Amino acid sequence: MNYIVLDLEWNQAADLKTKIENQLLFEIIEVGAVKLNEYKQQTDSFHELIKPQVFHKMNQITGELVHLSIDQLDNCRSFKEVVSDFIKWCGEDYIFCTWGNLDLLELQRNMDYYNMPQLADEPIKYYDVQKLFSIAFEDKKLRRTLEFAVDYLNIEKDIAFHRADSDAYYTAKVLQKIQPLEVFINYSFDTYRTPETKKDEIHIVFDDYEKYISRAFENKIEAMSDKEVISTKCYLCKSRTKKKIQWFTSNGKHYYSVFVCGNHGMFKSKIRIKKNFDNKVYVIKTTKKIGDSDYHEIINKREHARELRKERRHKASKEE
Ligand SMILES: [Zn+2]
Repeated sequence: MNYIVLDLEWNQAADLKTKIENQLLFEIIEVGAVKLNEYKQQTDSFHELIKPQVFHKMNQITGELVHLSIDQLDNCRSFKEVVSDFIKWCGEDYIFCTWGNLDLLELQRNMDYYNMPQLADEPIKYYDVQKLFSIAFEDKKLRRTLEFAVDYLNIEKDIAFHRADSDAYYTAKVLQKIQPLEVFINYSFDTYRTPETKKDEIHIVFDDYEKYISRAFENKIEAMSDKEVISTKCYLCKSRTKKKIQWFTSNGKHYYSVFVCGNHGMFKSKIRIKKNFDNKVYVIKTTKKIGDSDYHEIINKREHARELRKERRHKASKEE
């Protein structure tokens, strides 16, 4: 299996009017990638600039960051031509690796915009190297810049950052420095496209938590009444559990619950409500073991949510 370390640069509207007129928020203008073999040795690279078809002015921030002007892109090939070739170049057996979680999302958005064949009809399994760096060298939670990681690992900075080819090159260098095999069980999923049916839904058990990615629902109410979505079975032994705190939300987007398995102790689940490419609702649920202090934190959160609801009700009744 090959690792395709991918980095994209994109432009956005230079002014509000152009932004409102266009469906596409970010237009990809550069593709850079490095191919590593199964031993993470570089075997090939891909780099090409793209002629813009949506935004014909460079957004100031983008221009300053990537040091590119629109003139430089005028004689380039179109997105469709470049990305078709890039996908052919990727080959058959590979996994994408990106710094952060945006590149595959924007790639698919741009491909849809030009009605290109789908990259996948389900969530794409990939490595977020920014996350792997944090798991391998820091606390799993911090998210650093690529340059920070490069400095941290004493990688020679022989080319400038913020271009697709150089950032793909540096991301590959960071990836090569991550040695422990157990770090590589930490896959990410790009959920621009959600699981199509119930049986395609994703349940994945990591070191210390479980992740569930649901199929799409028409709306939040439908999602939050689905058995699997709100299930609090123990992910370690599949036993039924005893609810300690029923599902509650403080903002309508995040839901929490706490429950106890007779064999494995106390767990908390968090549901995040999200929207997929065609604006349907899906959820990402994470479940992990917790101790007493986490439990009390969630009790406080629930109290706070109750107070907020009370305040809102009070306000509404006054306005009547
Ligand atoms: Zn259990």
